[in-house]
Amino acid sequence: MRRTKIVATLGPATDDREVIEDLVRAGVDVVRLNFSHGSHEEQKQRAEMVREVAAEQDRVVGVLADLQGPKIRTERFEKKKVNLVKGDKFVLDADMDPLAGTKDAVGITYKSLVDDVKPGNTLLLDDGRMTMDVEQVEGAKIHCVVTHTGPLSDKKGINLLGGGLSAPALTDKDKEDIKAAAAIQADYVAVSFVSSAADVIAARKLLRDAGGYGGIVAKVERAEALKVIDEIIEASDAIMVARGDLGVEVGDAELPAIQKSMISRAREMDTVVITATQMMESMIENPIPTRAEVFDVANAVHDGTDAVMLSGETAAGNYPVKVVEAMSRICEKAEQHPRVMTSDHRSNLSFNRVDEAIAMATMYTANHLNVDAIGALTESGSTVLWMSRISSGIPIYAISRDQKTRRKVSLYRGVYPLSIDFEQIGKYNISSKVANLLSEKGIVEEGDQIIITRGDFLGEEAGGTNAMKIVTIGDVRVTKD
Ligand code: PGA
Ligand code: MN
Repeated sequence: MRRTKIVATLGPATDDREVIEDLVRAGVDVVRLNFSHGSHEEQKQRAEMVREVAAEQDRVVGVLADLQGPKIRTERFEKKKVNLVKGDKFVLDADMDPLAGTKDAVGITYKSLVDDVKPGNTLLLDDGRMTMDVEQVEGAKIHCVVTHTGPLSDKKGINLLGGGLSAPALTDKDKEDIKAAAAIQADYVAVSFVSSAADVIAARKLLRDAGGYGGIVAKVERAEALKVIDEIIEASDAIMVARGDLGVEVGDAELPAIQKSMISRAREMDTVVITATQMMESMIENPIPTRAEVFDVANAVHDGTDAVMLSGETAAGNYPVKVVEAMSRICEKAEQHPRVMTSDHRSNLSFNRVDEAIAMATMYTANHLNVDAIGALTESGSTVLWMSRISSGIPIYAISRDQKTRRKVSLYRGVYPLSIDFEQIGKYNISSKVANLLSEKGIVEEGDQIIITRGDFLGEEAGGTNAMKIVTIGDVRVTKD
């Protein structure tokens, strides 16, 4: 059973009920709605269809709404495309007619870019495929010299090497999109180009004001975000290693080390982490991944990521289902490495909270005793979040009556949501009822050992877990708590 979660971006290639059915069957855990493309109505329809299909298959699939953010782009060219040669002079002109680009100049979508750059800076266009050095800034014009020969076409992204662009993380469009995400009841909202914890906090406030409950994912894709990464992690429900834009700003060679340290820091700080971009890029065109892609996914699993993400591979690729199947099998195999099943259990720390201590004790026991599954009765999901920060091979079942909690934990590594109705089961004999639930679902069988965690005030309040209990399936004496 795969522990690492798969986030798949929806798009034109998946706008078909059968494809969605196959994606859910192939094991997608969270779908990503990319608010850079498509109308609110389209996003809503996608979310609804996914939830319908997931319910039919008795699966829980989370919905992540990904905001566009202040992606800076060139405007358009008169002839759609120009060829620029190394040494050519080229002007990025904030005042230019947005449709009138030529081989000498083009408009830009962010007027204040002129205030952010100075002579000597390097600009990377089209994800770094085209580079130019800034020679002079004059009014609304940025005079550059091309340092890489190549084509440049409409609406290509612009990044500044080393970072430092001042555009705020939440644009007016993002603020409208947050309202749409709230209306869709998105389980997560991802904020692009976060530069500080304040961006995350502002997004959460806007989402709550609009009636949304989702967690906030900080997309780390600006060089300056790395300088305050702890504050960003602290403020976020999850972070994304957004390797596309980040790699352009900091340079590709820096990325592997950044990914490793971001993942381990996020886990240490009890935050969820998604590894994103170009993981299976060649499968946009091809039915099988390259060996390098196989290793990239496996390495992210070994780094400890909660989830791996697909972008164009599912949204606009030729093999949206095949790519999920391939990613799934690579994750499963990578998870069998002993490195990702053992843990030091934070043995050097002391804990302030009873529920946190119970979560740690459970994982220690699960990893050291012959245990087949953990059944955690949880309101908010915090117990299973702590559990999932500990490397283990034992599945953690998040048993919750709250659908929002069940969807939220769909992103946590090694955590599987299950539904329970406290009204129906009552307050007594909880252990045997949890044991029955896991048996009925085919998760455990007679003789298996499970750990159950719960609180005395079950179903009444969050944060109340104060007990763990080890139970053998089929032991008829397990009736009393
Ligand atoms: P994007 O973010 O795909 O929305 O640009 C991810 C990244 O930059 O890696
Ligand atoms: Mn990005």
